[in-house]
Amino acid sequence: MFESLADKLKDSKNIVFVTGAGISQKSGIPTFRGKDGLWRKYDAMKLATVDAFYENPKLIWEWYEERRRNIIAAKPNAGHLAIAELEKFKTVHVLTQNIDGLHQRAGSTKVYELHGSIITIKCTWCDFKDAITSSFSELPPICKCKNILRPDAVWFGEPLPQDIWQTAIQQASSCDVMVMVGTSLAVSPANLLPVYAKQNGAILIEVNPEETMMSANVDLSIRSSAARALPELLSVFQRQ
Ligand code: NAD
Repeated sequence: MFESLADKLKDSKNIVFVTGAGISQKSGIPTFRGKDGLWRKYDAMKLATVDAFYENPKLIWEWYEERRRNIIAAKPNAGHLAIAELEKFKTVHVLTQNIDGLHQRAGSTKVYELHGSIITIKCTWCDFKDAITSSFSELPPICKCKNILRPDAVWFGEPLPQDIWQTAIQQASSCDVMVMVGTSLAVSPANLLPVYAKQNGAILIEVNPEETMMSANVDLSIRSSAARALPELLSVFQRQ
């Protein structure tokens, strides 16, 4: 799959992965867009906005609890594991839009969660914030300060955590290879990261069974699942 770029890939040093929901699809976590995406069944604006949450926190929490249970039970797949393994050969940073924590569980050490985490729960009022893997018996869950708790995920209309976003720009601007995996690149500002990489002259590769908004501008498009393509990419990097 990657033979046309094999020599350049072997010589590269800093690899950045920009990952999205598609990399976790083979772990049994549905994507939002694309074939079988959740947005084909649900209306995003009714479930993933701050307004929707305050209008009906119980409904939003029911949806999140179901997704949390599924994500907590899920396991990293060959795609996550190949990225983690690549750290033995190259400097690797993972800029992920995913909220499922599977890159960290696969062993990647430099993971930047642009859209937060579904495992971390925070208070809508006080500074309480903690990773919680058990399910809540009453929804919405209430903080000790008596205000509603929420998942620490970034909803539509909310800003990204600024320290993480600044690091993401820095890494994208200094990598020599950027691999975009399982992301439709429909969500801003994460979809600007390839532009920063291109300005640094990086090689751009996308791994996605479907075309994306960046397809026309990348050096290589691999139309395959992440779980199939990434172990093969790893083997190219391993050849010395
Ligand atoms: P998206 O749902 O917009 O797009 C998913 C992409 O993955 C599609 O382009 C699809 O063609 C591709 N895809 C599907 N199966 C694949 C596979 N096996 N291998 C490789 N690619 C595959 O996802 P996105 O771009 O990450 O979008 C945005 C939002 O979705 C993010 O904010 C993220 O927080 C949220 N999200 C996260 C999760 C998760 O944490 N696992 C799951 C669903 C949605």
